[in-house]
Amino acid sequence: MSKISDYESIVGAEVINELKMLAKKLKDKVIQNINSTSVGGGVAEILGRMVPLLQDLGVDARWDVLKGGEKYFQVTKKFHNALHGRKTEITSDDYEIFLETTKENIEQIEFYGDIIFIHDPQPVALVEKRRYLKSRWIWRCHIDFTSPDPEIWKFLKSFVEQYDACVFSAPSFARPLPIRQFLISPSIDPLSEKNRDLSEEEINNVLEELKINRDKPIITQISRFDYLKDPFGVIEAFRLVKKYVDCRLVLAGGGAVDDPEGQKVFQEVVEKAENDPDILVLLLPPASDLEINALQRASTVILQKSLREGFGLTVAEALWKAKPVVASAVGGIPLQIAHKYSGLLSHTVQGTAYWIRQLLHSPEYATRLGENGKAHIKQNFLLTRHLRDYLLLFLSLEEEEDVIYL
Ligand code: UDP
Repeated sequence: MSKISDYESIVGAEVINELKMLAKKLKDKVIQNINSTSVGGGVAEILGRMVPLLQDLGVDARWDVLKGGEKYFQVTKKFHNALHGRKTEITSDDYEIFLETTKENIEQIEFYGDIIFIHDPQPVALVEKRRYLKSRWIWRCHIDFTSPDPEIWKFLKSFVEQYDACVFSAPSFARPLPIRQFLISPSIDPLSEKNRDLSEEEINNVLEELKINRDKPIITQISRFDYLKDPFGVIEAFRLVKKYVDCRLVLAGGGAVDDPEGQKVFQEVVEKAENDPDILVLLLPPASDLEINALQRASTVILQKSLREGFGLTVAEALWKAKPVVASAVGGIPLQIAHKYSGLLSHTVQGTAYWIRQLLHSPEYATRLGENGKAHIKQNFLLTRHLRDYLLLFLSLEEEEDVIYL
């Protein structure tokens, strides 16, 4: 596991010293993170790296996971889709299942933190416990809130309002709320197995293991199998490109405990690929970090054709590897990609295909976009920036407390 001092060679001593200074002020506080899955998806990805580094900085950060059954996760996936603006019918039974599982977790989870840091909508209603505790509560929303279904938002809002503060990933996600709102973008860890430098030999070994031939340009999208990641649109765009340029498509991803739709979407994607030998649909097991790293590095172009996207860590991961990325202009993606400077933004299947062809025809342009993208990620979206923002957030809640007692 990386130590905070390991990052000095990437971000400089000043950044690390500032983190140490901020962390010192929090040394008596326990930060308790709670989310709904320990593997799969961006939130687990970030917490898995963030919590040990906070501990290394001397902050007592811990991580608990809410427990839920299959029905509960089917309901929360419906919420997730509706919050992303997808037409979804939510019944009174669904609300009941959600509240029942919340109640069970309120009874089972030990709420020991001075700051309770709740991630995403699944555990949002745990805040009902708050009235019995002295702790400060923060709700961290990682999803795309551009146009949430009004009914589900009304339901969740009644819980969100009970927090001290909430955190969104992009300015466009902010909502009218009576509590303080913070804008904090997610980040990637440059030293994780998923993002560390790899030798050409390591990349080749992984590609061989995955049986992916590097004889033609590789176009890749790494994502959970989710309709909102638009894997079908990716295949359509690839087919348009394929009429003009010979290349391969890799669609790779696994599932997450809190996403029960994955298997169904995977099957549909396999069918859509119609046994095309140039389309590889790969189901990745959990902890495929090295495989994802190598796949991204072996790719000529990386796609993220999401219909909605909280932030899109996969975009940051690809740009960090100096890869040219074609991605949808949704959610947090435009924070990462300035069109024609640090990548390419598209709105349609045709647009995606058009930009892929441009990149395949102009390798120098592709290299320039990738390099600009890497510089942008280094400046804005590395874990050290994220740690600083969180430390400041925790401290700002403490400050408020001091003011009240003075
Ligand atoms: N990821 C993974 N295995 C997979 C698919 C995705 O480890 O099979 C990782 C991916 O590399 C990224 C994160 O999960 O770090 C996905 O985050 P993102 O913000 O792109 O999307 P989310 O899944 O949170 O909607």
